[in-house]
Amino acid sequence: MVCYTQKIWAILKSYLSISRLSPFMNEFTGLELSPKKIEYIKYIQEQKGLVKTTDISSQFKVDPSTITKTVSELSATGLIQHMPYRGISLTEQGRIYAEFLIRRHRIISLVLTHYGLSPDEACIAVSRFEGRVTREVVDKICTSLGHPTMGVCGKIQHDKCCCPAGD
Ligand SMILES: [Zn+2]
Ligand SMILES: [Zn+2]
Repeated sequence: MVCYTQKIWAILKSYLSISRLSPFMNEFTGLELSPKKIEYIKYIQEQKGLVKTTDISSQFKVDPSTITKTVSELSATGLIQHMPYRGISLTEQGRIYAEFLIRRHRIISLVLTHYGLSPDEACIAVSRFEGRVTREVVDKICTSLGHPTMGVCGKIQHDKCCCPAGD
């Protein structure tokens, strides 16, 4: 009987694959995604609407079948929602994560421009390793820089964790 209840619960959980149940819900370290997935999440965030798998495959010049596989992996994390025949959008948790990804990129690239790199050089250099930098490190650098609002490739937004004052 117990086993049966557990099975039903497991099925329910998979149907209700809402962000509440995803590993990203409360705490994330920033090390969860591969470099490609980071770029896809940032791309979906920038589109401000529903994105098709074909949009992603043409943007990144990747085979559509590969994108389909990656999209279903991302759906399983709870960061995106894929509605068949309509498109892909970020979940609330996905938006929070995407904002972190963008802030991480812009904070680290800002630091590199203080050490001799041009804005373009900094952007390119950072995109090669940003996925390995934890949220804790980004928040510390962000705080030590005084939570800058302008990065070399766009505005920087700060979440409540980074700026407890909440501005
Ligand atoms: Zn950049
Ligand atoms: Zn900050």
